Amino acid sequence: MDNPSSKPRLSLHWQILIGLLVGATCGLIAREVWPATEGKLDSTLQWLTENVADTLGQIFLRLILMVVVPLVFSALTLGVAGIGDVRRLGRLGARTLLMTLLLSSVSVGIGLVAVNVVKPGTGLPPEKRELLKETYAKDTDKALSQAAKAKSPRDSLLDIIPKNPLQEMVGALDGSSQGGGMLAVMFFALACGVAISISPERTAPLVKVLEGIYDIAMVVIGWAMRLAPIGVAGFMFKLTATLGLDILQILIWYVGTVVAALALHMFGVYSLVVWLFAKLSPREFFGRITEVLLTAFATSSSNATLPTSLRVAEDKLSIKREIANFVLTVGSTANQNGTALYEGITVLFLAQVFGVELTIAQQVTVVLMSILAGVGTAGVPGGSLPLVVLVLKSVDVPGDGIGIILGVDRLLDMCRTTLNVTGDLAVAVCVDRGEKTASTN
Ligand code: ASP
Repeated sequence: MDNPSSKPRLSLHWQILIGLLVGATCGLIAREVWPATEGKLDSTLQWLTENVADTLGQIFLRLILMVVVPLVFSALTLGVAGIGDVRRLGRLGARTLLMTLLLSSVSVGIGLVAVNVVKPGTGLPPEKRELLKETYAKDTDKALSQAAKAKSPRDSLLDIIPKNPLQEMVGALDGSSQGGGMLAVMFFALACGVAISISPERTAPLVKVLEGIYDIAMVVIGWAMRLAPIGVAGFMFKLTATLGLDILQILIWYVGTVVAALALHMFGVYSLVVWLFAKLSPREFFGRITEVLLTAFATSSSNATLPTSLRVAEDKLSIKREIANFVLTVGSTANQNGTALYEGITVLFLAQVFGVELTIAQQVTVVLMSILAGVGTAGVPGGSLPLVVLVLKSVDVPGDGIGIILGVDRLLDMCRTTLNVTGDLAVAVCVDRGEKTASTN
């Protein structure tokens, strides 16, 4: 090494991994030192979890989220403007959309087969079911009230076109927007990008400003990522200290089914896709994106992982910047295979728990709604919960059944978010290689 003092001794993904393991282990130890009584967390441990561990995690997460909206707007506008010609944009958009829908359908299919084969819901004793619902009653109310605000499909579609883009930007990350949230911000960015490409000379100064915003966001993210190992340790401490192993034991079949199906989609389907369409060995693909995987796992947020994905796509996968900007930015909200798969399994699992027999038509409804939910879910922690309630209600399974799975949701959120961002990178690398082949022919 030329100048050892200027380089960190360990690369970032190793540091994050160590933070993850240290946090998880300390959480489990703390639970032994301050044991829970009658399922309630010890007050000292609760204090530590909320005021120390969660605070450290939130500082890290907020530093990233702080620049996500400007980043999404500038990255997507520049991506679209950089693609330049509207026909090329149409081709890229169509490819991205096609792959997104195809991969989402496959992921929901895998989920449904898994839940029908394993039948994790049939063995859950009614007393455990009631206990879980009581324990998570408060969180259930929150998810139910968010779902109650849901709009009709017509309004949801219309809301993608924002009446007031600035208002959508303000509410994009905390669910307080009245319209389409992040999807509406993206629509605005797409429109701006196309407009810039139609009149490039006159808009050149604006492009410079957007490039400046993009660069600033990336620098701030770089600072935040230095805190990643500590933030991640905080989140993992909170997870293991509050979750313990008891709840995992109760829901082991459900958790196992979700994780196994996610793993199959990740290492089976994506490996095949990158190998076939990008001529990239799966080992190389996963090896190069480790930092993205760990960031997604730690933050449970596709949006917060976007900056890392953009950097890794360019530096390690050699994806052209404008293509990465376009595919990854849109994908961080709209391509969520892990979420779609998880929704399918969860709805069928809860139907099994409540003994609701779903007709073929209802199962088809679950499939379609899960695919759409994958597109409409915000890329933030727990973004899919209100949509799970909606799908449950649409097939006559009690919405408050969601209380049964809330205790393990964070853990599953970490896993499904990892799949979500891997899907974005897989689509991006395939679209990029497809473009390169098209331009050399
Ligand atoms: N946390 C997920 C994401 O950001 C969304 C969800 O499934 O809740 O991708």
